[in-house]
Amino acid sequence: MDLVTISVIASAIAAFGLVAAWQHRLERAHDAEEEAKLRERLKEIKELGADKALTQCSHIHGDKCIGCGSCVIACHQGDVLAVVSGLARVVHAAHCIGCGRCEATCPVCAIEVGLGDISKRPDIPILSPELESSVPGLYIAGELGGISLVRNAIEQGKLAANAIARRLKADPKPKVPGVHDILVVGVGPAGLSALFRAVELGLDYASVSLDDVGGTVYKYPRRKLTLVQAADMPLQGRIKEGEYFKEDLLKMWSDTVCRNNIRVQINAAVEMITPADGVLETKTTAGTFKSRFVVLALGRRGVPRKLGVPGEESERVLYELADAAALQGQKALVIGGGNSAVEAALGLAAQPGNYVVLSHRKNEFSRLTSRNKERLDKAVAEKRLHLIMSSQVKCIEPDKVVLHSCDPGVVEKTDLPNDWVFVCAGGDPPFPLLHKIGVKFGKAPDEEAPEGKAPDAGPRETKTRAPGAPAVKVKT
Ligand SMILES: Cc1cc2nc3c(=O)[nH]c(=O)nc-3n(C[C@H](O)[C@H](O)[C@H](O)COP(=O)(O)OP(=O)(O)OC[C@H]3O[C@@H](n4cnc5c(N)ncnc54)[C@H](O)[C@@H]3O)c2cc1C
Ligand code: SF4
Ligand code: SF4
Repeated sequence: MDLVTISVIASAIAAFGLVAAWQHRLERAHDAEEEAKLRERLKEIKELGADKALTQCSHIHGDKCIGCGSCVIACHQGDVLAVVSGLARVVHAAHCIGCGRCEATCPVCAIEVGLGDISKRPDIPILSPELESSVPGLYIAGELGGISLVRNAIEQGKLAANAIARRLKADPKPKVPGVHDILVVGVGPAGLSALFRAVELGLDYASVSLDDVGGTVYKYPRRKLTLVQAADMPLQGRIKEGEYFKEDLLKMWSDTVCRNNIRVQINAAVEMITPADGVLETKTTAGTFKSRFVVLALGRRGVPRKLGVPGEESERVLYELADAAALQGQKALVIGGGNSAVEAALGLAAQPGNYVVLSHRKNEFSRLTSRNKERLDKAVAEKRLHLIMSSQVKCIEPDKVVLHSCDPGVVEKTDLPNDWVFVCAGGDPPFPLLHKIGVKFGKAPDEEAPEGKAPDAGPRETKTRAPGAPAVKVKT
């Protein structure tokens, strides 16, 4: 090889090396830029409080994670997970729906869906593996216990009813007139499953609920598609995995109620549960029920939050939108900053002739799924939907709504001609009721040790396992 050839090869190698080094540096700069952006986003999410899970959520075992990112790709909620500094991280916990796709995808079992360490959560009641609360005989099933999704609710309802049936069998007592074996409160999927199982097992039951059969599903917007994972509903059989219109699920459940002549007292709100003479006395707005066991399946939606402004008692103020298609050529104001408010506003905006305004009291949406955020941005850009941020309703008059700015120092008033007001500001969850009943939570609302005393001799670790959710550590 002559000198010229050698120098050409050497130059080519040097040039290739330079390009590779340059490319590597660019990639690192890009990664660093991406990571800086992600960290900034993490800070924002934390400030907005959306880093906290509402129900069950994914949890990463940092010691096992290899940073492959499969979980990020598997998650359909868009921005719940991200790989930060080579490790998966839960970024937007409030957007996690606990579906478990990430868990199923992880090649090294480094991600788990559950409640995590509930000793830090004042919204998760402490339950035994069979879902009995700290009040003996009182079981908690479904979303009220922190585990969402229809399938999980069904599994938990069954689990509670089976446990109660076993206890009744193990400790039979002479029948006392007016004392039922089991009272089921709430007829969402969890309550229905407990109720159907109780009927299947021949237990003497009573059942009360605020709303009609279906619970939260009953309140979904018309024709909402519900993704249900496979579950076996007592008295009914297998619900195959798939997407169901809410009407189809409701029909399945109502048919089972009718076919088996099951009695459900609707429009009855539970007010108190008290242990008395070996039974539980449940006071409701429809009377008092006595039973040996109670399954509380109240969900987490609670009573819809009101605005507390003059004119709110008007018949054109509603707290949910059942059927957007029923309103056309109308002027509607939707109030709220969550997914249900945005979905209601988008549903109304899609109807011919509607003029729809969405009012949110903050200057940012923190709890929207990425899909809803995209749809909202598009509708606003196309002027199909009008947004008034940092605003709150001052009063509702016969043909208009008066909005004021929430920004301190800004005196701005907007008069909106209006036919309908939809208040989608969430609900007051039933936790105060549970506290009143004596149910213990992972963390008390104001956990202060009495003077000179350590808080509750803890931490002691127990294991609780909710079906559909992996085992979680509970410190009590
Ligand atoms: C908009 C939306 C979309 C969803 N989409 C899906 C989905 O696609 N797939 C999925 O699997 N899950 C979905 N979910 C979650 C699912 O609906 C819930 O996890 C499930 O309904 C919880 O069932 P539950 O029986 O525990 O409670 P709920 O369904 O909330 O039922 C609670 C019951 O308790 C009653 N109640 C409440 N308070 C009282 C009281 N004080 N006294 C007496 N009764 C009371 C209510 O009337 C109701 O009957 C969605 C939830 C929402 C809000
Ligand atoms: S549980 Fe479902 S929603 Fe939550 S992070 Fe995993 S894939 Fe996403
Ligand atoms: S799939 Fe598992 S290993 Fe891969 S990034 Fe996610 S948690 Fe880590």
